[in-house]
Amino acid sequence: MGKTTTIQIPSNILETIYAGAKELYPRESFLLLRGKKSNGIICITDLVLAPFAIHEEGAVHFNPYMFAGDFSLVGTVHSHPNGNISPSHVDLNYFFGRILVIIGYPYEGKGCLAVYDSNGDELPFEITQPIECNDEEFY
Ligand SMILES: [Zn+2]
Repeated sequence: MGKTTTIQIPSNILETIYAGAKELYPRESFLLLRGKKSNGIICITDLVLAPFAIHEEGAVHFNPYMFAGDFSLVGTVHSHPNGNISPSHVDLNYFFGRILVIIGYPYEGKGCLAVYDSNGDELPFEITQPIECNDEEFY
């Protein structure tokens, strides 16, 4: 059996993700995730706005080569305004990093969030205590 990775998302970071997604609704939001990896746990520590991310109908594209060598980036998060938190084929084709986080409308609570690995398999996650992070304006 392969080792399962658990994702830890501090509650204030999740709030920031949800707030941004609500603001952009009905468009998709898209952010990069910075995090720390240790012993099968990936802890999200920061959100990074993807420069030159292009929001299109149903998909967001960005240039991953800009981030080559930045090993603190653990993956991406984007919203599904239709509320379906399953990954699309496009999502899996554009997979970046270790994890893919999808949030679905109405962007509230634990049920509007899912985490996937590059195979599209769902990973367990926990919402943890808020952490201190730079209070940037993302949208
Ligand atoms: Zn998607």
